[in-house]
Amino acid sequence: MTVLLGCIADDFTGGTDLAGMLVKAGMRTVQMIGVPQEPIGDDIDAVVIALKSRTTPAAEAIEESLAALRWLQQAGCKQAYFKYCSTFDSTAKGNIGPVAEALMDALGSKFTIACPAFPANNRTIYKGYLFAGDQLLSESGMRNHPLTPMNDASLVRVLQAQVKGKVGLAEYSTVLKGEAAVRERFAALQAEGCNFAVVDALSNDDLMSIGAACADLPLVTAGSGIALGLPQNFRRAGLLADDLVADTLPPTGGLRAVISGSCSIATQGQVAAMRAAHPSFNVDPFELARGSDVVGAALAWAAQHINAGPVLIYATATPEAVKAVQAQLGAEQAGNLVEDAFAAIAKGLVGLGVGQLIVAGGETSGAVVKALGVSGLRIGPEIDPGVPWTVGITRDASARPLALALKSGNFGTPDFFLKAWSRLAS
Ligand code: ADP
Repeated sequence: MTVLLGCIADDFTGGTDLAGMLVKAGMRTVQMIGVPQEPIGDDIDAVVIALKSRTTPAAEAIEESLAALRWLQQAGCKQAYFKYCSTFDSTAKGNIGPVAEALMDALGSKFTIACPAFPANNRTIYKGYLFAGDQLLSESGMRNHPLTPMNDASLVRVLQAQVKGKVGLAEYSTVLKGEAAVRERFAALQAEGCNFAVVDALSNDDLMSIGAACADLPLVTAGSGIALGLPQNFRRAGLLADDLVADTLPPTGGLRAVISGSCSIATQGQVAAMRAAHPSFNVDPFELARGSDVVGAALAWAAQHINAGPVLIYATATPEAVKAVQAQLGAEQAGNLVEDAFAAIAKGLVGLGVGQLIVAGGETSGAVVKALGVSGLRIGPEIDPGVPWTVGITRDASARPLALALKSGNFGTPDFFLKAWSRLAS
C-alpha cells in the first residue's frame, strides 16, 4: 500500500470534514479513529488519523501526533497534513504551533504553511487576519469559546506566540498572482529565516494556487480548505489517476436499520418521515431507568420486522419530553442510559444480519461505533452535505462488512432515512 497524503486531524469531526473533502477531490480516503492497529486496505490514496489533541496538554498532543506520523510514514505517505480547525482553535500554549514544529522536526523539514482558510464556510484570511464571516475572529463568537477563546485575529501573532521558529506572511497580493508567485514568496520567506508562512486566502481559486505551491513541502498545516488544492499535485506527478472514482464502497449487502438517539430538530422531522413509511420501535428512557429489558424487546421486535425492509429504533423525542426525562433521571444519566441501550441494540442488529446501518446523533454514533469495534471508516458517497456512507474498518478480520452512515443531529433533509439507501451499491 502506498498512501499519498497522510493526514493528522486534531479532532474527530474535523477529520471527517477533511476526509469528505479529499474524496470529493478524487482521493480514496479512510478515516481512522486514533493510530491504526490493523490493516486498512490497500487501494487508498489518503489516510486521515483523527486524534483528540486540540485541547490536551501540548506534550500529549505532540506524542500522539508523532505516533500518527510514524504510522503514516511506514504506510509510505509522500506528504503529511496537520489539520486543525478553520478558526485556528488553540490556547496560548498551543497546540497548533508545538505539534507543527514537532512534526517538522520529525520530517526534517524547515518550512511549512499555516492556512486555516475555508472560504466555503466563510473563513478567510487577509493580511494575516482571520475572518469568520464579516467579523474578525476576535470579534466573533470565538472570543467566548469555553476551551479555546480566540482574542487575537492575527494568525502571525497567535502562531508566533506558540513556536520557537519565525512566522512570516504570504500576502493576498502575492496569492492573487498564482502558484509561481506563491512559491517565490515561500522561497523569499525561507531566505529571511522564516519557518512558517501564514497565507492569505479569500476564495477556492486561492486555495488551488496555494495547494499547487505546496507540492514539495513535506508538511502542510491547514484547515480542511487546502485539501482542495493538494490532489492535483499528485495527479501532475502521475501518482493519482485523473478519472478515479474515489467514493466507491465495497458492496455490503445485509439488512437495513436506522437507530436514532438524536433529538435535534432535523432528526425529529426525519424520524417522523421514517415512522410514516416503515415499522418503528420507541426506546423509552423511563423503561430503561426502571431496569426493563428494553434492548431485548427492541431486538425481538426487530427480528419480526426487519426481513421485510428497513426498521427504525428511536429515542428521539420533543424538547418537552426530553426535559421531563432529564428532570427525573438527570441529563447525563439519561443520555448514558439511552446511549448504552443503542450500543447494545446496534450489536444485536448486526447479529440479526444488518449490513447497512444509519445512526443519528453525534454522541449516539460514538457509542455505537465503539460497541461495534469500528476503528476506522472508508469514506463513500455523500448522502447529504457532511454525511457520507462509509464502510466500517474493524480489528476483527472475520467480521462481516458493515455500511454505516453517521448523521449529526442537524444534518440531512427530512427524507434522509428514506433516500439514503439508494446511494449504496446494494
Ligand atoms: P445530536 O447529534 O442530535 O446532538 P447526540 O446523540 O449527540 O445527538 O445527543 C443526544 C443525546 O440525547 C444522547 O446522549 C442521547 O442518548 C440522549 N437522548 C436521546 N433520546 C433521549 C430522550 N428521549 N430523553 C433524554 N435523552 C435522550
